[in-house]
Amino acid sequence: MAQNHQMASRCMLLSPERLTNSLYHKLLSLPIADKLHVDPESIGEASVDFGLIVREIPAAVLRPSHPEDIAILVAFAYSKSSIPFTISARGCGHSVRGQAMVRDGVVVDMTSLGNKTTVSWSQSLGHYADVGGQQLWIDVLEETLKHGVAPVSWTDYLYLTVGGTLSNAGISGETFRYGPQISNVYEMDVITGTGHFLTCAPHENPELFHSVLGGLGQFGIITRARIALGPSPKRAKWVQMLYSDFSAFTTDQERLISRHRRGQDEVLDYVEGQLFMRRNSDSWISFFSFLDHPRLMSLVTEHELLYCIEVAKFYDECTQSTVDKDLEKILKDLSHGPEFLYQKDVGYVDFLNRVRVGEMVLREQGLWNVPHPWLNLFVPKSRIADFNTGVFKNIVLKKNMTTELVLIYPMNNDKWDDRMSAVIPDEDVFYTVGFLHSSGFEDWQEFDLQNKEVLHFCEDNGIKQYLPNYSTESDWIQHFGPKWRKFEENKAQFDPKMLLSPGQNIFNHNQ
Ligand code: FAD
Repeated sequence: MAQNHQMASRCMLLSPERLTNSLYHKLLSLPIADKLHVDPESIGEASVDFGLIVREIPAAVLRPSHPEDIAILVAFAYSKSSIPFTISARGCGHSVRGQAMVRDGVVVDMTSLGNKTTVSWSQSLGHYADVGGQQLWIDVLEETLKHGVAPVSWTDYLYLTVGGTLSNAGISGETFRYGPQISNVYEMDVITGTGHFLTCAPHENPELFHSVLGGLGQFGIITRARIALGPSPKRAKWVQMLYSDFSAFTTDQERLISRHRRGQDEVLDYVEGQLFMRRNSDSWISFFSFLDHPRLMSLVTEHELLYCIEVAKFYDECTQSTVDKDLEKILKDLSHGPEFLYQKDVGYVDFLNRVRVGEMVLREQGLWNVPHPWLNLFVPKSRIADFNTGVFKNIVLKKNMTTELVLIYPMNNDKWDDRMSAVIPDEDVFYTVGFLHSSGFEDWQEFDLQNKEVLHFCEDNGIKQYLPNYSTESDWIQHFGPKWRKFEENKAQFDPKMLLSPGQNIFNHNQ
């Protein structure tokens, strides 16, 4: 009776066409069979991502209840399956080029593992959190705040998973000071491409630890990460300053991110920047007072390109009385016009979760689930002035296309760990430039053509892609540069059958 019931529920999950597929017959023999889904909705969700540009149909979606379910699947693919198939962990599918997809293999829907954050304290680490690889950063934030602590390094958007951002780097305006999220991990549990569960840390399985961080999902599936925490502030002074001169803009940004290195007491918590064009969607203007809108529109019309430094200083009850003075000290002598400094005072969570507000507006307007031909770059400091001329002025400005958002802000190289897989330019300071395009379903190719022109400019300029997307091995070799050999060796060691994250197109060009 129980057996019949089990068979019946399997049949509801697996459609008749699928049941004829021999891979499915094999998968049905596994103790995780009832967690495999092939209904059109599950397959449909797993075959698209935030980019809405690439589409790959998996054979099935695994919704694990425990990390062991994933280990069973990977071990089966590695050792027992006579039918080779690949496997991709999927956080929320916030990639834009199919990086979490898999053709005819199995997508592991990590979010089905549910919420798991434990906050602890030790003499050597202070406060830290053990969090599931599937967890959203917003949930990590909510849980840690209950203990008066929070992660120190963030992404702009908090509805990304820990495993997904640690597979890239995880950057935002805090990176200049605390390093990317991958620099704030003490330890991880990982299921390798052989199906083994390993704990790794800088002194335990260090090769695995370093390769997984920024490793684009190639070496293992992160099921737990131990994250560094610091005291959580209560509020943020949030400031934007406008520039029409690019050199003044970058000089000031670089001054701001070097204060802590120069031993100055007053240091910002967050430094970012944006490019404003008349043709940007005018969502940027909402930060500023409504009364200033006409003046800002005439300024951007006059100069065509405006640059905006965005900073924040966090504070709590103890620092409330000094925060304004500290901020004044930090911002004095900057070169923006004094009439172009705008300030807000907001709650800490509201500040960190600021992109969610924009998301809700776009969702309401039906503009969230549209193609996103994004391009993210790391530009060495020595090339940033040329980038302004060669890309912002000579490519972006000349095209008659509306861009949603262009981010530009610097980071300090010494906050990154070169042993990790993430690739950054070889200079003390480098910039991230993010073209966060939204397009219609018919015209994303135009943005792609612009991206190609930008990438052409980037060739031979030491500029690297962040959230990289390449289709040929030689492009990947060039991307990784001196790190390529190690990357390949690590792949051979931890995922010798090349089962994991084929959607990155690094080792599985014909997935
Ligand atoms: P997915 O897209 O699902 O997966 C990404 C890759 O990681 C895939 O190859 C997948 O197989 C692999 N992967 C997923 N989970 C695991 C795991 N547990 N173990 C091993 N591999 C895994 N990035 C920033 O750095 N800073 C930002 O400020 C930022 N803002 C963003 C804002 C928006 C609106 C969006 C859509 C993206 C943003 N990103 C940002 C990019 C984001 O970091 C990437 O999309 C990242 O991949 C996280 O998304 P995800 O958790 O949905 O992962």
